[in-house]
Amino acid sequence: MNIAIIGAGPTGLSAAWELSKQNHEITIFEKEAVAGGLARGFKARNWQDSVECFYHHWFKSDQSMLALIEELGLADQVKFHKPVSVMYHRGKFYPFDTIPSALLFPGLGFGINKIRFGLVGLYLRMTNNWRAMEKFTVEDWMTKYAGEKVYRSMWEPMMIGKFGEHYASKVNMAWMWARIHSRTTELGTFKGGFQAFFDAFTDILRSKSVELHFNAEIESIRKVSDRRFTVKSAGSELFEFDRVLVTTSPDGLRQMVPELPQSYQEKLRDQTSMGAVVMVISIKHPLSPKGYYWYNLPKQDGFPCLALVEHTNFVSKERFDGETIIYAGDYLEPNHENFRLSKDELLAKMLPGLKQINPEFDESWVNEAWKFSAPYAQPIPLLNHSRKILPFETPLDGMFLATMSQIYPWDRGVNYAFQLGKDVSRVVL
Ligand SMILES: Cc1cc2nc3c(=O)[nH]c(=O)nc-3n(C[C@H](O)[C@H](O)[C@H](O)COP(=O)(O)OP(=O)(O)OC[C@H]3O[C@@H](n4cnc5c(N)ncnc54)[C@H](O)[C@@H]3O)c2cc1C
Repeated sequence: MNIAIIGAGPTGLSAAWELSKQNHEITIFEKEAVAGGLARGFKARNWQDSVECFYHHWFKSDQSMLALIEELGLADQVKFHKPVSVMYHRGKFYPFDTIPSALLFPGLGFGINKIRFGLVGLYLRMTNNWRAMEKFTVEDWMTKYAGEKVYRSMWEPMMIGKFGEHYASKVNMAWMWARIHSRTTELGTFKGGFQAFFDAFTDILRSKSVELHFNAEIESIRKVSDRRFTVKSAGSELFEFDRVLVTTSPDGLRQMVPELPQSYQEKLRDQTSMGAVVMVISIKHPLSPKGYYWYNLPKQDGFPCLALVEHTNFVSKERFDGETIIYAGDYLEPNHENFRLSKDELLAKMLPGLKQINPEFDESWVNEAWKFSAPYAQPIPLLNHSRKILPFETPLDGMFLATMSQIYPWDRGVNYAFQLGKDVSRVVL
């Protein structure tokens, strides 16, 4: 069969890999100039390695990712480290990535709150019964079992940072279970950055005769006869296929295929999600006085973003000409003003946050900054989300959808996108 895949993100590449093993003819269309989707990277002139446009790492528990990379023969390029993540409390930062360090965190107060926090963490690590939890919001479940104090000081700032004021109290507990259940403190990356991995992956796909078109934004997909589709990108010829797999956002599918029935379009619109706006800032000196990697920031204490990440406390700065690379990142609703701000305007908004972390920080430290944004970055799983998940098959026979909103109860990630690509390829065939 002749199969088109829209999107060269992790899902599209993984599906292409699986389908190419069955000797089908695969063509991938990607609107960006490189593969990798939200996990793609970029390189400044003087850097030897790339950094991800949106901060990225893998977890030791990312089985689908490790299995695929092994199969591609690239496993020796994956490196794991244990960088330190910290939480804020009354003007200071405290390590917060192991149960012992979390128990020492002063924001929890003394006695019973720490015990409840520890027991709830342990329970969530051990139980597999996430289905019972999707009936409750994180707020209701955590307040009941971990207590009001623990929820308000620990989880609520993170929920607000990730889902905004509007959705923070509406996300279901299965989502939180999945994060606590599966994540590890050891974090991994690929030698040379995630982009080096995606470039190696696309080279392997090409060697399997997969055709890749970059800078090829698909504008429309039409069904022309029984199981025949035309795919059109801006200013290019029409291509014809037997099957089409779309790996963009649900809304992207809706826009490309206006002939989809109204009832299905409503379901696509109903897939709630947050966008992301991230600044990458290169500075002259290290920012974190203690060499921390990840700063969880509570916005109610005046921080301008959800997370400040010192990438060069995770990977060596030698590969970046000695520069310190910082991310200032946020999940925001797609109509938020940060999407519209220019790079310089956003930088001016973020810099005070760097000073809150290190009072010696000065604007003159900044070498250069880059702004990246994505309107579809984080699906929002509301109560009983499992009932809302769209199947891979669309109402048009021969057209399929594989997108982050179908990943559940796990929090979307490259690992799950690889699994999604594998799962959808079976259905496509
Ligand atoms: C801020 C942030 C931090 C993250 N951190 C991590 C992390 O630490 N670890 C982790 O594992 N995951 C992380 N993720 C999630 C991870 O990036 C995603 O789960 C993964 O990229 C999803 O892959 P995908 O292929 O399904 O979608 P995408 O990566 O979104 O890929 C879709 C592709 O389709 C292309 N496309 C869209 N429309 C069209 C069109 N009309 N024509 C042609 N091409 C089109 C896009 O350009 C894109 O390349 C993070 C995401 C964000 C936003």
